[in-house]
Amino acid sequence: MAGNQLKEALETLKESGIRITPQRHAILEYLINSMSHPTADEIYKALEGKFPNMSVATVYNNLRVFREAGLVKELTYGDSSSRFDFATSDHYHAICEKCGKIVDFHYPSLNEVEQFAAHVTNFKVSHHRLEIYGLCEDCAKKEGH
Ligand SMILES: [Zn+2]
Ligand SMILES: [Zn+2]
Repeated sequence: MAGNQLKEALETLKESGIRITPQRHAILEYLINSMSHPTADEIYKALEGKFPNMSVATVYNNLRVFREAGLVKELTYGDSSSRFDFATSDHYHAICEKCGKIVDFHYPSLNEVEQFAAHVTNFKVSHHRLEIYGLCEDCAKKEGH
């Protein structure tokens, strides 16, 4: 599954005329395999051993390229640094208020809310956001809940 996603992502880059460098390949692979919605800094730390000449700025610039190609979503949830998510299917996020962990979940029945909102407000709806906040399983355990 992850192998296919990587193949498709590389295909998308090719079609957009974006050069696939070894760094871009590695960053994409890391994003696809990571369920943790990493920051640019975390990606940098994970890959700096492989690419000693790479800087955080390089990682960030590559993430921007991916974002513009529609492969990656930049998540801004108010904390200082953006997190990045490989854009597969639409999904929502549950965010831990203690450790900042982000967990994916799907809730397709909420797609109807856009039609409903459009109908009630006469808006041309482009998208919606929903985030769930609370304590993740690990943090809840630590707090003894
Ligand atoms: Zn947590
Ligand atoms: Zn996600």
